[in-house]
Amino acid sequence: MTAASRDPHPPKPPSDRSATGRRRSSGASAEAAAPVVTATQRVVDAIYAAILELRLTPGTRLREEELAASFQVSRTVIRQALHRLAQDRVIELHHNRGAQVPLPGRDEAAHVFDARRVVECEVARRLAGQLSEGQWAQLGGLVQEEAAADARGDRSAAIRKSGEFHRALAEMSGNPVFVRMLDELLPTTSILMAMYQPAGRPVCVAHRHQELLAALAGPRATAAAEMRRHLQELEAAVTAPEPRPAALRDVFAGYRESEPAASLSPSDSSGRC
Ligand SMILES: [Zn+2]
Repeated sequence: MTAASRDPHPPKPPSDRSATGRRRSSGASAEAAAPVVTATQRVVDAIYAAILELRLTPGTRLREEELAASFQVSRTVIRQALHRLAQDRVIELHHNRGAQVPLPGRDEAAHVFDARRVVECEVARRLAGQLSEGQWAQLGGLVQEEAAADARGDRSAAIRKSGEFHRALAEMSGNPVFVRMLDELLPTTSILMAMYQPAGRPVCVAHRHQELLAALAGPRATAAAEMRRHLQELEAAVTAPEPRPAALRDVFAGYRESEPAASLSPSDSSGRC
């Protein structure tokens, strides 16, 4: 929809106006006219990439002085960058302890995916059969870029592309509130993916995005169901990182629910779509 979402030039966090600044000017002139914005952006992008690449691990303290020295910028620039990253939930800012790389817990992951299912299944339902030629091209391009990043082993880029794909769908739904909601939810998902998906495994599985696209050409219910399946698969991948013997208790957790639906998976709790 916007010029930013069509911008094929990352690296950027999952959303151009999220971790990179919610109301960042996207014009090239801004770079020349406002070097402080550019410097802040550079720091934001670098820290975000370092978190996605696990060079900054969960729990790491982000000290202003050290960062200022590393980036050769003022502490004001660092403070602005940290504030922006905290706004987008990429890092945590504590009054007493300063900035820290977060470790999203299981509960938070569950809440994030629950919310994503509610929003994105509805997005998929609305978009089914409604996409224009240009939108197909944009989405197809993002999937290709994600697959290319995957193929060259650039996990950080693949994770970002995956986020951009989901954000683009929300934009296409025409409701800016959906986009803002995803801006809140995508960074946490990206961090979880970086932390918990074993290296060497495909990221947000670009081929799944192909399947999503195929489903978006079909009826509404199919599109929504495919989005639900996709998000559940993703959630399972980031919340059960190590291959381990399946516990029967978990395998059959759905049967303990009051609902009789035998095919209900344990995480299938939002009841949407
Ligand atoms: Zn995805």
